[in-house]
Amino acid sequence: MTSLKPELKEISSPEIDGNSSPDSPVVLISSCLLGRDCRYDGKIITSEEVQVLTDHLRVVPVCPETELGLNSPRPPIKLWKRREGKMLLYQPAAQKFWHRKIRMKCLRYLRSNPYLAGMILKSRSPTCGPESCKFYRPGSSQPAGRTSGFLPALAARHDPFLPIIDEKDIKKPKKLYRFLTKIYALHDWLLLLDDFSIAGLHEFQADYKLMLLGFDQQGVDELGRIVARQKEYSESELKRKYLKKFIDCFSGRLTRGKWKNVVLHGFGHITEEISDEDRQKFLQMVEEFRHGRNNYHEMQNWLLNRAEKLNNDYLLKQKFLKPFPHDLASDLRSKYTAPDPFIEK
Ligand code: SF4
Repeated sequence: MTSLKPELKEISSPEIDGNSSPDSPVVLISSCLLGRDCRYDGKIITSEEVQVLTDHLRVVPVCPETELGLNSPRPPIKLWKRREGKMLLYQPAAQKFWHRKIRMKCLRYLRSNPYLAGMILKSRSPTCGPESCKFYRPGSSQPAGRTSGFLPALAARHDPFLPIIDEKDIKKPKKLYRFLTKIYALHDWLLLLDDFSIAGLHEFQADYKLMLLGFDQQGVDELGRIVARQKEYSESELKRKYLKKFIDCFSGRLTRGKWKNVVLHGFGHITEEISDEDRQKFLQMVEEFRHGRNNYHEMQNWLLNRAEKLNNDYLLKQKFLKPFPHDLASDLRSKYTAPDPFIEK
């Protein structure tokens, strides 16, 4: 599970692709989304958004089916689900079950990447697809419903905190924002575990404080209580409890009203150091944002810019101003979809 300390200091797996720095999060990506020739129907597909992300993330391309030696094209595999929940992968044309071998392969992906921070998977695939895959009752040719595919279901048991998204949801600004925010937060957590200390945990907590306040005020209070009671827990218990609550916080509802408060809280740390004119300009910008008349990028970039000019350490460390690298956000914005927590699509 992610809560355990990573065993490797360096990622040296030859499977890692991408052009990003070694400090970037490690993400598993379904190989077919990278234009590789591995699909059951022999088609080559690509996702433009995924392509942009590969420039910024450390990518582990995975295709559980072809890595077992299956060809492209091949007769399709179906997801069977028994009533008690057990999942099977069956290839009707070959009358062959594949779930045992695919399970081993998927466990290997999860266990051999201790810095794994997320997954981008092909929608609807019985092996890879998150949430919306058709499943069948054994022996029936009629779909019985939709569920998670084999790999994401296994990942949810092995590492319940791992953010997962598919190539369709990546086009939605709100879902993309949450996914990126979570994988970078999880990546920071994994780096903290590398050299864990209570002082480091306090610092981590301080850096995420304003961001988490935007998502979940009660969650922030709960995290504070967990840290305050750290002497009652073993180190592994403390890490597990903290991580669970930390990741839960990101599921909270973000609203313009809450985000306005977060931004004003941050602004309070520089308000004495700027001119009246600048102050009024910013407050106007915040009101415009509150009423949905501008996006949050403009307001945050303004605040970040002032924090840099004033060399304000407190603000510069706050993750809400830069939850993921700016060049990633601007690459996505200029080419495809800007991650934005307030835009529904
Ligand atoms: S969906 Fe998964 S198993 Fe199917 S071709 Fe893509 S990577 Fe391979």
